[in-house]
Amino acid sequence: MDLAPTEEEEEFRAGLRDWLARTLPTLPPPPSPADWPGRRAYDTAWQRLLYDAGYAGLHWSASPARRLIFLEETELARAPYVGANFVGLLHAGPTIIAEGTAEQRARWLDPILRGDEIWCQGFSEPGAGSDLASLRTRAVRDGDTYRVTGSKIWTSHAEVADWCELLVRTGPAIGTGTDTARHRGITWLALPMDAPGVTVRPLRTLAGSAEFAEVFLDEVPVPVSHRVGAENDGWRVTMVTLSFERGTAFAGEVVACRRTLAELARTARANGRWDDPVLRRALGRLAAEFTALWRLVQANVSEAQHSGGVPGSGGSVLKLRYSQARQELYETAAQVLGDEALDLDGPWTSERLSSLAYTIAAGTSQIQRNIIAERVLGLPKGG
Ligand SMILES: Cc1cc2nc3c(=O)[nH]c(=O)nc-3n(C[C@H](O)[C@H](O)[C@H](O)COP(=O)(O)OP(=O)(O)OC[C@H]3O[C@@H](n4cnc5c(N)ncnc54)[C@H](O)[C@@H]3O)c2cc1C
Repeated sequence: MDLAPTEEEEEFRAGLRDWLARTLPTLPPPPSPADWPGRRAYDTAWQRLLYDAGYAGLHWSASPARRLIFLEETELARAPYVGANFVGLLHAGPTIIAEGTAEQRARWLDPILRGDEIWCQGFSEPGAGSDLASLRTRAVRDGDTYRVTGSKIWTSHAEVADWCELLVRTGPAIGTGTDTARHRGITWLALPMDAPGVTVRPLRTLAGSAEFAEVFLDEVPVPVSHRVGAENDGWRVTMVTLSFERGTAFAGEVVACRRTLAELARTARANGRWDDPVLRRALGRLAAEFTALWRLVQANVSEAQHSGGVPGSGGSVLKLRYSQARQELYETAAQVLGDEALDLDGPWTSERLSSLAYTIAAGTSQIQRNIIAERVLGLPKGG
């Protein structure tokens, strides 16, 4: 893996740095974290600026070195987070590139890159979270249309999304086939969120924001042309989506955590907590952990390039370690900051509360460990 930037890539870095320095001061203040329509408008406007400047979707097409430079420079300049564009840019778009038809790519990719359309992810159901293959939302084919009935839960950004990457059951009902049939009877569809029969009911998180929602589907018509991959082959397509979600989607956040850690070390030096050897050791350990995570990001991005663009199961290692390290980071921040970390309206409290979700979202730590044991280390499957 040689990711040493060439002269041309360093020129790219300088151009991007210059563009960020000129553009970021022109942005309006970000909306409140609880204001999802405001956040959609803010995030998509930023995406449009990236698009117009030729910086949108570099992780879809540019060399690994350019992608990593983009991540580093945007995070270090404190550019807006990908936000409401997360699903579209980081895993629905990449899945459509890998598995979609030419027509599907032409229909969906550009609006994602321009920030015109927001996607959400309709995988989890009340009885199918970790055991995703137990999903029951059913799609019945009626000519050129599927009629979809069921419900989804924990659907992030559903309130403001235009499209949903939706998993449905098209094979035998759960409980009637073998374990293998469970996986073979799933299909990946692109659901228009404004279709008749879609009801979105927001759920409130611990941090106080209605970040995700329940989605109810009642005989919702979805054209067969919105199916990505073959009917009943959705489990394989889902593995592609999840490998992007776990393997590369958190890459920018790793850089952001490294920046936060450096800030904390400066604060600890300024407020005297640096003199506490236990705290100093915790900060040092986290610095080593995030450096290792950045190396893992580099390895995943580079490996994905060599394996046709799709990251492997090694993404579960990144997801597991990153989500744990993020929680430790905000626990340590609370020790460095003292009372400031308890301000309910302050950014540290909301970040600390939301860090708790990371070991659950995109697959729990226990599930990542199972995947690492079985698919990365080749250990026997538990009985
Ligand atoms: C912030 C956030 C955002 C989310 N966004 C989305 C989204 O946009 N779209 C979406 O579809 N979903 C989303 N989810 C849902 C998330 O993917 C699920 O919560 C997750 O997969 C866990 O499923 P569950 O909640 O049903 O827990 P369960 O599957 O009921 O698990 C409960 C506990 O049992 C453990 N467990 C279960 N099975 C096993 C096993 N075989 N081995 C060992 N331990 C096991 C789990 O690890 C967990 O600790 C989001 C979740 C969060 C927290």
